[in-house]
Amino acid sequence: MNRNEFYKSEPKLIRQLLISCLIFFASFQEASSQEYFQQRVNYKIQVKLNDQLHELNAFETLEYINNSPDTLRFLFFHLWPNGYSNNNTELAKQLFSINGKQKLFNDPELKGYMDSLDFRIDKLKVHWSLLSGQPDICQIVLNKPLLPHDSIRITTPFHVKIPKGVTSRLGHIGESYQISQWYPKPAVYDQTGWHQMSNQDQGEFYSEFGSFDVSITLPENYIVGATGNLQNQEESKMLDQLAADTSWTKNINSENADFPVSSGKMKTLRYTENQIHDFAWFADKRFHVLKGKVRLPESGREVNTWVMFTNQQAKLWKDAIPYVNNSILLFSKWNGDYPYKSFTAVQSALSAGDGMEYPGITVIGLAKDAYALDEVIAHEIGHSWFYSALGSNERRYPFMDESLTSTIEVRYMHERYPDKKLWETNVRNLKLAKFFHIDQMPVKQMRELEWLSQARDNLEQAINFPADDYNTLNYSLMIYNKAATGFNYLRAYLADSIYDSCMHDYYRQWKSKHPQPDDLQRIFESNTSKDLSWFFTEFIGTTKRMDYKVVGYENQKLLVRNKGELVSPTVISGMIGDSICFEKWVDGFKGQKEIDIPAGNYTQLKIDPRHVTPELFRLNNNIRTSGIFPKADPLQTQLYFSLEDPEKRHLMFFPAVNWTRENGFMAGVAMHNGFLTPKPFEYFVMPFYTFRNPGIAGFGKVAYNIIPYAKLIRKATISLEGTQFGAPGNQNYHKIKAGLDLYFRSNQQNNSLTHKAFGNYITASNLFQIEHLEKAKTNAYLQFGYQLEKAGIINPFKLLVSSESSQSFLKTTAELNYRISYYGKKSGMDIRLFAGTMLKSNPDIPYYSLSPSGRSGPEQYLFQGTYPDRFSTPQTTFWSRQATFNEGGFVSPVNNQLGYSKWLISLSFISSLPGNNQRIPFKPFVNFLLNDHGFGTNQATFFYEAGLKTGIWNFFEIYIPLVVSGNIESITGNFKDRIRIVFNLDTFTQTKLNSGIGIEIR
Ligand SMILES: [Zn+2]
Repeated sequence: MNRNEFYKSEPKLIRQLLISCLIFFASFQEASSQEYFQQRVNYKIQVKLNDQLHELNAFETLEYINNSPDTLRFLFFHLWPNGYSNNNTELAKQLFSINGKQKLFNDPELKGYMDSLDFRIDKLKVHWSLLSGQPDICQIVLNKPLLPHDSIRITTPFHVKIPKGVTSRLGHIGESYQISQWYPKPAVYDQTGWHQMSNQDQGEFYSEFGSFDVSITLPENYIVGATGNLQNQEESKMLDQLAADTSWTKNINSENADFPVSSGKMKTLRYTENQIHDFAWFADKRFHVLKGKVRLPESGREVNTWVMFTNQQAKLWKDAIPYVNNSILLFSKWNGDYPYKSFTAVQSALSAGDGMEYPGITVIGLAKDAYALDEVIAHEIGHSWFYSALGSNERRYPFMDESLTSTIEVRYMHERYPDKKLWETNVRNLKLAKFFHIDQMPVKQMRELEWLSQARDNLEQAINFPADDYNTLNYSLMIYNKAATGFNYLRAYLADSIYDSCMHDYYRQWKSKHPQPDDLQRIFESNTSKDLSWFFTEFIGTTKRMDYKVVGYENQKLLVRNKGELVSPTVISGMIGDSICFEKWVDGFKGQKEIDIPAGNYTQLKIDPRHVTPELFRLNNNIRTSGIFPKADPLQTQLYFSLEDPEKRHLMFFPAVNWTRENGFMAGVAMHNGFLTPKPFEYFVMPFYTFRNPGIAGFGKVAYNIIPYAKLIRKATISLEGTQFGAPGNQNYHKIKAGLDLYFRSNQQNNSLTHKAFGNYITASNLFQIEHLEKAKTNAYLQFGYQLEKAGIINPFKLLVSSESSQSFLKTTAELNYRISYYGKKSGMDIRLFAGTMLKSNPDIPYYSLSPSGRSGPEQYLFQGTYPDRFSTPQTTFWSRQATFNEGGFVSPVNNQLGYSKWLISLSFISSLPGNNQRIPFKPFVNFLLNDHGFGTNQATFFYEAGLKTGIWNFFEIYIPLVVSGNIESITGNFKDRIRIVFNLDTFTQTKLNSGIGIEIR
């Protein structure tokens, strides 16, 4: 996959060696670090669009000025259209790992590339070559060294085949063009050397500043939005007229997406701008155009604002000029005046997030409503500061652009829509919102809940990692979500005016430069005269958690304890009902601290009632000034389930009915405390009243989760489970299970490899006695195991090694489930390899040994799964065909006659049908098994079966073994008698908030 995976597979010693080399190298570099310098690149590009062949033919002239103290003998250039040239580029590999195996760039329409290059320096040919494995980077060897403070003139023609715009940032949809990262561009050379980088989808840019002079030739009836300032007066007039004519707004036919025929006449549009580091342009013959202007708050300078869009989203976009203007105005106020003369927001079919930023222009995909459009436009305009003007290395420090941009986006949305509720953007139905008790939840609560679901599982990553060190979920949750919460927390602590003056200073000092994280910290600390390492070092650089707890309140003093690792400021409030009487900031402290509370008739004292700080647990944040249990939290009861308010305890319930042959009809209620946000204490109990076998049946589980900070163990879950259901002979089957699950921390979280160890102590009714209608005693069992799992779309696997023992047996097993993913999203071949051996066994109770077939109900001595008709003789009724395909996993029911095994090995294959046949709801399977004994006359110990599987995957499945080995056929007879079913009710309890959310990347 990517390079990080390679390093992970290196033996530990080599890794340590590498790390020590890196440290040595880093300190060496530190020592030799020089004064800040910055290269400059001035571009002149003539480009012609061929909209028949979807190509660009261009000529580039650039001046490269070496402001470094170093003599350069070569230059790295980015040729990013080549990221689309084959299936082994970094872009292709990243898209595969997110979306599954695809023959992406085998498709001539999706393929893109750059060729016809002929680099010359001062008119002389130079030697240049593509990097191996990275065709989107080339190295140009200079004919003569480029001395410090000297410059060279580089020229090259180039041709770009524009890919269909469905994979990443460069592309066309029909004759609508998104032209970005399209020209040969030098990589950044700075104090730490060259920063050549491949085109990636998750991970952005780092570029040199300079001037751009770009002339675009294309058919006359195209409307173009581009970086820079249009130099053609005729075209400007035409656009002004187009914007002035708004008659089209009265009858928009959003269905009409036809492209007008391209004019035979061509036009050339010239755009220029200085002090920018990129140039993008968007061309479409269908664009509607609106124009506005906004006066900047500091200089009074006027900025022209444009929006360009098609019929498809015209209803939303006709109101978009105020979104652009408001964003520019507010962000200028907060950070300093917008840097350019104009801004254009373009609506187009975008396939890299909801919006994509370029200097002076943004491209936005389809928005679901006006609120969402305002939000995404604001975000992209925010990048005019944190990306365009402040050119940080986004690949290395994505937080320096995305987090700072998200920070002002969140602040902007809060100012524009202070009372917006969550249901208005998500559920959109007040009755439903009231039913789920979320009608009062502010819209920003969703961000907190999304972050909590990852943080409470101890799956966070620090905010200062490079882009490709994050898994997709954390890239969104850490960089866009948690970090933005963090910067707004810093702002709340410092106060807006101080925070804003720091950002003004940052913008002033680093505009058109390459700031580093330290530069940002230095400015904040020097402006505030405060040590802000708790924020820049601890909050940004670690995953230390924030959790303050109210201990008690007496004599106007609130005693607060810091239970977290982060020693950072917190805010205390006195409340009367829901209204906040005062807010008092307290600097971070370790241990306990008494906080003076101003006099007042508060009903309650609370830590951070406005949810400004990243508090991990809020149930311990408050104390009432009267009552017997002053620290008790409100209990929210809820039918079914709901989003969990972190300030409340929840009791969620739903009525449940059940049926088993022994208990008959059962009526009960399931109760739980929510499963969308992980909590330290979790429960799920489902008791039933049984009508036939009077008494109580049901299931219950309580669990306690411990999440240590930065330890080998990421999460330890201690659980206690109880099960009781009716059994033959008017008895009940009971089971009590005490478990410990230790989930280990993965040292790299971007490759979704997880591992855990577990141990269970189980006491359960002796099933053998129950089945023989004797009064059942209780047996004790011990289970230990280790599980290694790789989730994800491409070739996921799970390896489980375990042992199980009781008084009479000891069983050890290993099971590997591996999926070979095919091309196409969900298809693949599932392979299961199982091997087990009995180290001790009791011939009197056979089913404790290894089961060649999947176990049916009467063989489940630990009562796993939901079996409506558990005890009936297998294959006699519909439900008696139910089985769990563990151990040998054979579908054909052979256990009764073959008997159980002392050892066995089995190998199974289930495959999706190839190509378009995947819609046929059948999957072929084939199973092989070898064990210690045979059956019948020839005593063959090798078995096979092959057949078809159908049904609703993982919930209700039917297995039909059609072809079987002779020894199986002699036991089972007709194929109908071999059909078995899987019925699995347990899938729904494993849902977690983040498994269903859309990921937000802009
Ligand atoms: Zn962004």
